[in-house]
Amino acid sequence: MAEKLILDGARVANELKEQLRTRVDALSGIGITPCLATILVGDDPASETYVRMKGNACKRLGITSRRIHLDRSISTEELINVISQLNEDPLVHGILLQHPVPHQIDERAAFEAISIHKDVDGVTALGFAQNAFGYADYPSCTPAAIMALLDYYRIPIEGKHAVVIGRSPILGKPVSLMLLNRNATVTTCHSKTTNLADMVKLADIVVAAVGKPKFIQGEWLRPGAVVLDAGYNAGNVGDVDYEACLLKASAITPVPAGVGPVTIAMLLKHTVDAAEKTAKH
Ligand code: NAP
Repeated sequence: MAEKLILDGARVANELKEQLRTRVDALSGIGITPCLATILVGDDPASETYVRMKGNACKRLGITSRRIHLDRSISTEELINVISQLNEDPLVHGILLQHPVPHQIDERAAFEAISIHKDVDGVTALGFAQNAFGYADYPSCTPAAIMALLDYYRIPIEGKHAVVIGRSPILGKPVSLMLLNRNATVTTCHSKTTNLADMVKLADIVVAAVGKPKFIQGEWLRPGAVVLDAGYNAGNVGDVDYEACLLKASAITPVPAGVGPVTIAMLLKHTVDAAEKTAKH
């Protein structure tokens, strides 16, 4: 079997966080503590876990994590009021509204209420557009993590055919645009794609962002493909059938310890970036 490269997200995340530690210390020296506000609406256990993990990662680095936990019956207007207060709060540098929110809430309207200066997960239309043009301050964290993993392991992107499975506004679409901006030829697949296996067979780089456990099959892969699994499903399983894809891939992210930890490191990085910007003003 040819040698496999396991793309070690924990290692990449730790290196990123070490670099951030110095920057957090420097900010502390001028009296600024980066602060990420996380808003959780309702009591979805998976969302609670994500928010807790993000909060713990902040604390370990000396970033303030301000947790706002709102009742699941809150209205869109009430949620937007909370976001507006955080926009105005000079001590808050980044705002993260945990997705998904309960059905009665207009999630898009709530995302759009986040100030572009605090949109550290690239969820606003303006943040998305800036990413599409290639100059976003804060591209969505999971797409940014995928690009960081490719770059860390010096995996060529230019001229390669990337097939992204998934087109959500926070993952599939922005990562497709980021790959395109780096001169990959990009195919974005979704639930209405009729010949998915044939599409994946053409890929040098496969990005799985589907939300279905073990969905991407090993037999769909071209030998030597690079596989990035953004999926995170119950039971610590990704969107890729890891064991089967490992046999065909030249490089692959595991789940856990692949894309996930780098996503959190990106969120911390964007929060520190935002805090540094306020220091300059
Ligand atoms: P999402 O909003 O549910 O989007 C899923 C996408 O997959 C949609 O575009 C959907 O197509 C497509 N899809 C669904 N079934 C398909 C099928 N049979 N064939 C082809 N495409 C199909 O999910 P998301 O928020 O992007 O998240 C995707 C995955 O990433 C989840 O496992 C999530 O837990 C994970 N995630 C991980 C991180 C991390 O830090 N690692 C962060 C965010 C999300 P349509 O558009 O046609 O419906």
